[in-house]
Amino acid sequence: MTVSDTKLPPSFITQVVQDDIAADVHGGKVLTRFPPEPNGYLHIGHARSIWLNFGIAEMFGGECNLRFDDTNPEKEEQEYVDAIKEDVSWLGYQWAGDVRYASDYFDRFHEWALYLIKAGKAYVCHLTAEQASEYRGWATKPGKESPYRQRSVEENLELFEKMRLGEFAEGECVLRAKIDMTSPNMNMRDPILYRIRKASHHQTGDKWCIYPSYDFAHGQEDAIEGVTHSICTLEFRDHRPLYDWFIENLPVPSRPRQYEMGRLNLSYTVTSKRKLKRLVDENIVAGWNDPRMPTISGMRRRGFTPSSLRKFCEMVPVSDKNNSDVDLAILERAIRDDLNESAARAMCVMEPLKVTILNFPEGEVETMTAPCHPNKPEMGERKLSFTREIYIERDDFNEDSSLSRKKFKRLVLGEWVRLRSAYIIKAEEVVKNEQGEIVEIKATLVPDTVGADAPEGVRPRGVIHWVSASQCAEIEVRKYDRLFRTESPDRAEGEFSDQINPESLKIMKGYLELDAANAEPETHFQFEREGYFVADQYDHSAETPVFNMTIGLKDTWSSKE
Ligand code: ATP
Ligand code: MG
Repeated sequence: MTVSDTKLPPSFITQVVQDDIAADVHGGKVLTRFPPEPNGYLHIGHARSIWLNFGIAEMFGGECNLRFDDTNPEKEEQEYVDAIKEDVSWLGYQWAGDVRYASDYFDRFHEWALYLIKAGKAYVCHLTAEQASEYRGWATKPGKESPYRQRSVEENLELFEKMRLGEFAEGECVLRAKIDMTSPNMNMRDPILYRIRKASHHQTGDKWCIYPSYDFAHGQEDAIEGVTHSICTLEFRDHRPLYDWFIENLPVPSRPRQYEMGRLNLSYTVTSKRKLKRLVDENIVAGWNDPRMPTISGMRRRGFTPSSLRKFCEMVPVSDKNNSDVDLAILERAIRDDLNESAARAMCVMEPLKVTILNFPEGEVETMTAPCHPNKPEMGERKLSFTREIYIERDDFNEDSSLSRKKFKRLVLGEWVRLRSAYIIKAEEVVKNEQGEIVEIKATLVPDTVGADAPEGVRPRGVIHWVSASQCAEIEVRKYDRLFRTESPDRAEGEFSDQINPESLKIMKGYLELDAANAEPETHFQFEREGYFVADQYDHSAETPVFNMTIGLKDTWSSKE
């Protein structure tokens, strides 16, 4: 395990596990599992489940399995399996042993289906889907028994074998458990164990044309693996009696228990693989790992770090009563705080205005140093190159020297400003083009002010960032913002895709310190006064530097609304 000193915040589930260990319920053992269905990429909700399952295991000296819940052949693809493994590893977790697949257990599930048939506890039912739903009744109306319920064991064995051999069409019949059609819990009204699906499976190929239902598979997968605590989301609470019924009625090798916790929902985003897939399929985003997606791979590409996602998960209480609707600002704060600690600083000018330093010789390069991090000397220093021509941000200059010093702490004509980690300069003259736009500032530097206080009479208004015009790299900057403009895109009127924020991606140029532009893909920076940026995982190279904006320095959304 990678994070051995893990301590999750106390919750109902840490209490359960602690009590079970104390009472020696599972021989003191803790084995959890993370069971994604490989029908899409993992999203922030899955990160929550990974954090909890792996975290519980680490905290109590246990282990966690990675198991693909691939009982549904149609929607599952190898691409998803690979992406999921990559995401779990990137988050910093190590699953126990090999990756597991529910499909590895198909033979065993089949044997157990035969076992239930032989015990008179399962039958092949020929009701159509429509009839079956009518027979099921509803919450306040007890169901009716299927006319096929009393078939003999022999007949059921024969029919089930025919199902397996592909002698029935899809939907013609199913295998059902014989439990209780009058149970107040709808899940106990003779649930489906096997359906016919004439589809190839990415692991088992064409070996099977019958596939177990989620309910018939999940608990048995847990039991086969020796899982002790099987954590799922609240929608499955009503399935728990069925989970337990299978465990009690089958010769399973261990007795796992199911616990339910609230689902994590984030504002300004959707966390349903089906909806995320639509964004991809309809080309609303550039793919599953588009940096605007709430997928783990998208967030990674955007510049989120594993530790920021873990910290975010820690901030949201684990509840066994309610789903957690979390404000996206909390996630944004987690990444901001994390990168504030860990990201090296660099200067990047986005909207350049040329400044010529009249009293600095042409062709000369003066090297100065600046700390990589203001409070972390251990992160070392970086070199800055100062030249006669530099760039500052267009917004950092104003011709109007009557602007109050309080309001405009930057450069105005006739006054001084400090260039971060370099000289104090004074704006002497403004050069304009024919349209009257400012194209250049002519300035002078105040000698001996690098790393030194301003001399008497020189009063800089503030500190601004800059880069040398010749000793910088032109980079592509991808500025990302929230993908949805409404807080609950799921609940808004009309199509959720109509809620897309049209300004969620702006591509622009930037002028960055050379060394930073040469950084490896996935290196994080704080571009001073701008925000946090990361060298793109795929498109960035020293020749064509591409940086993604992870998040601004401040939360601008709460003030926008
Ligand atoms: P989706 O609705 O996105 O398809 P799912 O639950 O169907 O989600 P699975 O692949 O079955 O996706 O999920 C794997 C595990 O992750 C399950 O144990 C599930 O409970 C958990 N999980 C999925 N979404 C969330 C969420 N939003 N919050 C917490 N846990 C989640
Ligand atoms: Mg699911």
